[in-house]
Amino acid sequence: MPTDGESMDTLRDRLLRVEAELEKRNDRVKRLEKEIERLQQQIQEAQGQPAVDFSEMEEALKRLLTRVVMILAASKALFMVSDTKTGELFADTPAIGFEDADVRRLRIKDHLGISGEVFRENQPVILYDAEADDRAAEEQWSRLGIRNGLCVPLVIEKRDEETNAVIERRTFGVLWVFNKKFGNAFIAEDVQLLTRMSRNAAAIINAAETFKILVKERDEALETIESLSMGLIMVNTNQRITQMNHSALRIFGLTKEDLAGGRTYDAVIKDEKVRELLRRSLEEDADVSAEVPLTNPDNPDHSHTFQVQSATVRNEIGEAIGSATIFNDITEIKNVDKMKTAFVSTVSHELRTPLTAIKGFISTLVQDTEGFFDNNTRHEFYTIIDTECDRLRRLIDDLLNVSRIEANAALEMNLTKFNLRETLDKVIAIQSGSTYKKENHSLSWEMSPDVPTEIEADQDKIEQVFHNLIGNALKYAPGGGPVQVTGKLLPGGEMLEFAISDRGIGMSDAFLKKVGEKFARADNRDTRTIGGTGIGLFLVKAFVEGHGGRMWPHSEGEGKGSTFFFTLPLNPNADGRDGNLGSRVAG
Ligand code: ADP
Repeated sequence: MPTDGESMDTLRDRLLRVEAELEKRNDRVKRLEKEIERLQQQIQEAQGQPAVDFSEMEEALKRLLTRVVMILAASKALFMVSDTKTGELFADTPAIGFEDADVRRLRIKDHLGISGEVFRENQPVILYDAEADDRAAEEQWSRLGIRNGLCVPLVIEKRDEETNAVIERRTFGVLWVFNKKFGNAFIAEDVQLLTRMSRNAAAIINAAETFKILVKERDEALETIESLSMGLIMVNTNQRITQMNHSALRIFGLTKEDLAGGRTYDAVIKDEKVRELLRRSLEEDADVSAEVPLTNPDNPDHSHTFQVQSATVRNEIGEAIGSATIFNDITEIKNVDKMKTAFVSTVSHELRTPLTAIKGFISTLVQDTEGFFDNNTRHEFYTIIDTECDRLRRLIDDLLNVSRIEANAALEMNLTKFNLRETLDKVIAIQSGSTYKKENHSLSWEMSPDVPTEIEADQDKIEQVFHNLIGNALKYAPGGGPVQVTGKLLPGGEMLEFAISDRGIGMSDAFLKKVGEKFARADNRDTRTIGGTGIGLFLVKAFVEGHGGRMWPHSEGEGKGSTFFFTLPLNPNADGRDGNLGSRVAG
């Protein structure tokens, strides 16, 4: 999905080019269809049958080849057409006296074999002995049961409408007949006969082949449009929808059947704003764009924002023949935008709170020139200032770490051995002084005996992990209750697992999936009144993963408390895991 205006524009340009190309091809296919129809009619009329469809044309070709075979007293016939892209001659159905699969396999470079010679030199060639003739080695005719043959070029001529003089002559393939009956060989008379008959055949074969190629190209272009992740609607000047891809149908909760019979957009699309855009794109003959919110038909409670862009589609001579409109889902981009705005305001708020406290206490102390406050009170003020400064420092450290991770810079790991239980005591002592710690909160830890006294890790980062998780446990359990930290050695003896649990506001299933994403904050009545930046868990996850561990949350649901688990390798240098340490951490 494009993320900025520029790539949106390029994408749109590309799409419009595909559209215009498709329209051109459609025109060419339509013209050809008419031409073929006319040809078909001529053939069919001669045979007293009405024209029906493409397979009828194949039938007509088959009859023509059968007649050629009969007249020349041959047993088999096939034609080969040049593929200018690959520089090859390839055989196509129908053919007489061959299996279809053998025909489709037949492909040679257009300068090789007798076919290549006839195509290049534009001269007929008689093949007298398929096995003995060196020129035919390339084609290996004898493998297909061929003894002898005759090959003539297939030429298409363009004539001047008034004078009927030939103004262009182009060889596009070759026509073969094989195995002259009664053991005879092909002779000069056969060459003349086949050359004459090939003129009629060439017109039909050329039309049929061009038609097939165009249909194939059109189908490929249609498939590309179908598989686009953005919605696409094409409307012609009669307001009828000529194209609506899979994504567009999904956006509007429609099926292909809803469009059957060439419905107008007014009859199919309910959204007033979209209709207005489509109307303007047709009437004003100008490119229009807008952001449109549309409800998700599968989930009516959810709305998606689409960047809708319409452009006029023109034919070869520049006349407007309709409009192409794309629908690009920008809901995610919008959400990130909103999140950024919310982040800036929460960070400002989070910075201001400790600053206000620091400023307040310092001003009070500065104004106390008379020594009104006793030593104990002053000490209490200094402690508050000290705690608030720590809080400020932690917030700034968090922000710096996020930007480091975002810049994909390596998270430096300073591995040391330190006493885990003492670290927990220290973190819990600090958290006990937190403003979120209420009277009825209890804070405790319990490590199973198999957890070693000293562990090897980055002490600062592990301290911060415990600070964030214990701090959150207190913060998101405003009603109090026990906050417990437990630890154990996992079976296998290589990993330690820790859990921090609370009896607080819990988390919904939907939010559990987002935990650890940058700026992710649950949006509910409780969290709206509790300040936060949504970067604590993002850092916890990054720090834990930086050690080669994993972090995951658990909650039975909102109001049912939460537990955060994380693992750490017991010996980070063992089994080559140090490759993980000090290395990049995915943002
Ligand atoms: P912050 O607390 O600054 O918003 P965090 O990254 O630490 O950022 O947490 C992200 C979000 O995860 C919180 O806003 C909250 O919605 C949810 N959360 C974190 N810890 C808990 C918890 N113990 N109980 C319930 N929700 C939690």
